[in-house]
Amino acid sequence: MRKLELGRKIRKGFILFFLVFVLPGPALAKTSSRPVARGNGLEIRTIIIDPGHGGKDPGAVGRRGLKEKQVVLDIAKRLKRILDRDRNLKVYLTRSRDRFVPLSKRASFANRRKGGIFLSIHANSAFTSRARGFETYYLSQAVDDTARAAATRENSVLKLEEFEGLPKARRNNSNLETILWDMKYTEFRNQSMELAELIQKRLSRTLKIRNRGVKSAPFYVLKKVAMPSILVEVGFMSNRRDEALLRDANFREKIARALAESILSYRRIYKKEKGFTK
Ligand SMILES: [Zn+2]
Repeated sequence: MRKLELGRKIRKGFILFFLVFVLPGPALAKTSSRPVARGNGLEIRTIIIDPGHGGKDPGAVGRRGLKEKQVVLDIAKRLKRILDRDRNLKVYLTRSRDRFVPLSKRASFANRRKGGIFLSIHANSAFTSRARGFETYYLSQAVDDTARAAATRENSVLKLEEFEGLPKARRNNSNLETILWDMKYTEFRNQSMELAELIQKRLSRTLKIRNRGVKSAPFYVLKKVAMPSILVEVGFMSNRRDEALLRDANFREKIARALAESILSYRRIYKKEKGFTK
């Protein structure tokens, strides 16, 4: 009996050794060909700004006719203009004019440019016209009902697109690669939460509208990007007062400034945490 147990233990140890030290070699080598999150070194150098909707997809439409696609594009352009002043940053927009861009294209654009942060900008809509305020989302599966409703609405554009399914790399993954990917994903999620908190704090200090807090939901576009990613709903198109504010260029500039400040302060914290000194 004892001998048998010892044999079992040795076999177990050998399998563990194989799993921990031998297998990760080639698997790690393979994953490194995936989009690397942060570009050069440990500093965030590339920001991807994603104005929601566009072209045949207007997004939410206000009671007085203001369209979400116009509001978010304007805020995105203002935000880019502010961030462009920092010479160490490269800032890209997933669309810079009124055109339709499928969600999968937005994500692959961000991954190709090795973004360090992905920020999607949207404006909200609700059945009740009383709902107002701003909220920031990070990706997760566990959600409450209102968060699920927001994700369903923002994902509904998929009906206008050709669904491509999972990218090849994910489909052919071995279990181990999937585990490694999940670890990376957990890191991204924690960073996304941190950035979302910074944005909500900064926006609530700047804007005099309701802070609805940080939330999580399964947004398709966030699922596809290999970097910390968040989605900001800047106000409710379905609320008359929010719509009036969003129509005001000064208010949109305030939002853009608050977003830029949050991104820059996240970048500073990140640099410190990773011990990157220059
Ligand atoms: Zn939207």
